[in-house]
Amino acid sequence: MLVTGASRGIGAAAARQAAARGWDVAVNYTRDAAAAEAVAADVRAAGQRAFVVRADVADEAQVLAMFAAIDGEIDAGRLAPLGGLVNNAGVVDLPARVDEMSGARIERMFRINVFGSIWCAREAVKRLSIKHGRSGGSIVNLGSAASRLGSPGQYVDYAASKGAIDVFTLGLAREVAAEGVRVNAVRPGIIETDIHASGGLPERARQLAPQVPMQRAGSADEVAAAIVWLLSDEASYTTGSVLDVTGGR
Ligand code: NAP
Repeated sequence: MLVTGASRGIGAAAARQAAARGWDVAVNYTRDAAAAEAVAADVRAAGQRAFVVRADVADEAQVLAMFAAIDGEIDAGRLAPLGGLVNNAGVVDLPARVDEMSGARIERMFRINVFGSIWCAREAVKRLSIKHGRSGGSIVNLGSAASRLGSPGQYVDYAASKGAIDVFTLGLAREVAAEGVRVNAVRPGIIETDIHASGGLPERARQLAPQVPMQRAGSADEVAAAIVWLLSDEASYTTGSVLDVTGGR
């Protein structure tokens, strides 16, 4: 499978858990090559093959080059044929009201979180769908509970981008359901990763924990468990679903 944004956080946890379940993993990242290599080393330590591939999913040409590179590895027998995609790469931004947001910020948010996910899903469907002569597979998109909550005063643009992911998941799932491809989304709540620091709020997960019915933030591994289940044959009749992993929030 290909996991986008797999150098840390939820993507890294998904890559490691996938390897433990017998998947070869293409580990995508943008900036931190050493972190991506460390995840790949863990995949190999679990007995699976790993391929580290740098690509900014916000750039369509880089997405196409990433899939071509993965095709090359598969053709050379260094990776199993593609069976799954985890559309995990995603970003937040600094807290702001909508009337304070620059056009560049909003465009970046949608290019990474929405366009990147759709471009990657498109390329995956070409390589998974029976209609394209392939043998099927599974796609998991990363949404967010923000699509239900709206994130006012913090990042409404992020919440809207994740709303797009919910709808894209439903539509694509129904489009390819008869072609051996399942498409689902996992919608995390407040998860302890570096994403909060990247949005200028390093303490966010701890600060919001009391608002969670379970009274704590979740871990990347708790989200990854839902991702790898949806990717597995155990979820063979599950498509078009959006699975909340939010501690009840
Ligand atoms: P994270 O710790 O910030 O990790 C983000 C990952 O995405 C990194 O591996 C990063 O790689 C990569 N990435 C960022 N921009 C990219 C791009 N343009 N192209 C390719 N890779 C890119 O985030 P996380 O918390 O694990 O979040 C993962 C997903 O879950 C995101 O879609 C996020 O919106 C969603 N989510 C998270 C939470 C939460 O509370 N953590 C809640 C709801 C939803 P580099 O560092 O190498 O650039």
